Amino acid sequence: MRRILLSLLVMCPALAVASEHAVELHQRLDLSEVAGQNVVALTLDACSGTFDADLVRFLIEHRIPATVFATRRWLERNAEATAILTAQPDLFDIEDHGANHVPAVIGVGRRVYGIAGNPDLEHLRQEVSQGAQAVERATGSKPRWYRGATARYDPQALGDIEAMGYRIAGFSVNADAGATLSASAVAARIRAARSGDILIAHMNRPRSATAEGLAQGLSELQARGYTFVLLRDESVVPDRIPRRRLRHAAALLSPNAQA
Ligand SMILES: [Zn+2]
Repeated sequence: MRRILLSLLVMCPALAVASEHAVELHQRLDLSEVAGQNVVALTLDACSGTFDADLVRFLIEHRIPATVFATRRWLERNAEATAILTAQPDLFDIEDHGANHVPAVIGVGRRVYGIAGNPDLEHLRQEVSQGAQAVERATGSKPRWYRGATARYDPQALGDIEAMGYRIAGFSVNADAGATLSASAVAARIRAARSGDILIAHMNRPRSATAEGLAQGLSELQARGYTFVLLRDESVVPDRIPRRRLRHAAALLSPNAQA
């Protein structure tokens, strides 16, 4: 058995990479496709938990659009909040964040930040497609973008999700580090954004400082003439991933890793 595995790895070194490395997908807007200057895209994850009403109220008042990545779990538990989002189709585009917030890594025992991945490919496909069905039930239209839980992916999972017909949403600015940052830290990260950046933050943690920090940072960008776009209207290009981050990702993905 060991010999078969070894010869497989010699014949196909990509297999070894696929089984060990999950990467954070970094992307920016393709500015050659965007009209105007100083454009950023705000994306908000709704993983599980509840609804940050202050954040959404701010976005509606300031007419700032956001692409929302919602799980089936979140949509089913937050029907009233979902209705607020779907009542503003020009501002909020709801896309697929999976059924149960399972990271897009494949293999028994694989974890990202302590969250279990998929034991096999079939489970990954169910996570993606059952999430999509929930989005379609809520919005009336099929999602076209997918973002996996934790935003880290096995290369094999990336290829498979794309083969299912989805575009995979990365980011370039981690605005709230999973809703763990102070308001001033969130505002500082947004203040440093450049045209073409894709911001990621969370709208499912109302007790966090995310809403306050986003309100501060996004107001400043607006005052400097920035406009905001939805991913559905744009093309994206890969952003450079520093090598040290790749190594960091691999370290997080050992079967016993907790973060
Ligand atoms: Zn999430």
